[in-house]
Amino acid sequence: MKKILLVTMLAFVFACSSDDDTVSADASSDTSETNEIDDPRFTIGTKNMKEIGVDNLEEMISLFLEDCQVNDIVVSDSQEIAVIFESLPDGIVMLASGIGNDDKITLKIDEDIWTRLSEVDKWYMLYHELGHDVLNLMHTSGGDMMSIEVNKRVTWDHFFTDKQIMFEVYKDLD
Ligand SMILES: [Zn+2]
Repeated sequence: MKKILLVTMLAFVFACSSDDDTVSADASSDTSETNEIDDPRFTIGTKNMKEIGVDNLEEMISLFLEDCQVNDIVVSDSQEIAVIFESLPDGIVMLASGIGNDDKITLKIDEDIWTRLSEVDKWYMLYHELGHDVLNLMHTSGGDMMSIEVNKRVTWDHFFTDKQIMFEVYKDLD
């Protein structure tokens, strides 16, 4: 029992953080730009991830909410969204504090680490945190997206596969 608790706690610490080495490796591997433009997976409902980019957090969050709708998950469309950039402790990239409050999305982001993340890392991290905040998932459910392994190298294929698993797991919980 103690061992399981320890593993869960470690997973919690790592899942919302990012290892600098992994980050720089991912940033340099993100080179397949020409193929991505035509990839239909980047279009979600009425939005396109590539057009939104990764500079506007409100628009990224709005895309996540639309993705929920596309996947037949009912979420409040009048959520109060707050994104705060500040210095977070111990390599933590992002914190969600709106868990359990379905009218509020509150994200705190460490700006220094965030700016060094690759595009796909940013989306993966955002979906992870909104998995907490919007879907109220813990690290123990939601598949790989909610229990990010430390050394996992995130690619777009991981992102699209893992987010679908997260949505399916969520729907099975209902
Ligand atoms: Zn987390």
